[in-house]
Amino acid sequence: RGKAHGGKRFEFYASEMPAWTREWLAIETRLRHGLEGGDFVLHYQPQVNLIDGSPVGLEALLRWRQPDGELWSPGRFINVTEETGLILSIGAWVIREATRQMAAWRDAGVPLVPVSVNVSARQCLDRHLVKVVADALADADIPAHLLKIEVTESTAMADLGQLKALLTELRQLGVAVAMDDFGTGYSSLAHLKRFPVDQIKIDPSFIHDITTDANGAAIVRATIALAHGLGVPVVAEGVENAEQMRFLTEHHCDIAQGYLYAYPLACDDVARYLHGNRPNPHGHDAFA
Ligand code: C2E
Ligand code: MG
Ligand code: MG
Ligand code: MG
Repeated sequence: RGKAHGGKRFEFYASEMPAWTREWLAIETRLRHGLEGGDFVLHYQPQVNLIDGSPVGLEALLRWRQPDGELWSPGRFINVTEETGLILSIGAWVIREATRQMAAWRDAGVPLVPVSVNVSARQCLDRHLVKVVADALADADIPAHLLKIEVTESTAMADLGQLKALLTELRQLGVAVAMDDFGTGYSSLAHLKRFPVDQIKIDPSFIHDITTDANGAAIVRATIALAHGLGVPVVAEGVENAEQMRFLTEHHCDIAQGYLYAYPLACDDVARYLHGNRPNPHGHDAFA
């Protein structure tokens, strides 16, 4: 779909379109220009070791700069990019930009940590994705183990055979694969059995009430045990307060990501952060 059917969508009269369709088309047009005009940016959210608070990774998160300077988060436009197929070119830009940025940090003497990039279901069905990743790494001269690809469970539902082939090829390149938003899709366990992953990320909805809801706490404990049983580290997403941090530390969660540690940061702020210039909720500075 997308490009191949590009003309079809315009066979309606504008007056017959529901308002949301017109708005959607306007966003699509602006997205196309945005890619050409350099209106997309990546922010990077640190992931920290729960034992000492030191950075162990960054997640690249897409932002779309509006004419008034406001930055839009993916929730406001990612659906349109997927429905139109624009996600393929935007997603390729994200992968190239993340590796280019890693090279820039490296050249500036910033200590590198692995960077995770999100890919949507649509991108996983694209035969070119592995080549996009391989070329981006080669062009930036970044070793594959410094790149991680995050797929969600809903992605995993799209086409199991094709997804398995894709993840296998990525891992053969040396790129790690993380299962994002774990627990929010269905048949998570069946997916884990079929697709080897290098990391499991627990969705914020489970972290939110771990200190107040016994069921939520039990699910998080079980997920940590599951990940460790599979021999992979687990990341808690959406960690916002010290009680959650303590619970996760006590239950041997490996890595935390959330506003308690850092918001998604612009690239200059990432450089300062990785140089050791950061608050540490654990109370001691890993670089001191
Ligand atoms: P995600 O991959 O699960 O990313 C984590 C989201 O949680 C991010 O939202 C992040 O800003 C937010 N977050 C981080 N810490 C906290 C916290 O302590 N509390 C709360 N409430 N939220 C927190 P963001 O940046 O709006 O991204 C939303 C989703 O959009 C991502 O979810 C991901 O699925 C998708 N996305 C982001 N960037 C890309 C991209 O480059 N390509 C594709 N295909 N999808 C992307
Ligand atoms: Mg993610
Ligand atoms: Mg997530
Ligand atoms: Mg998500």
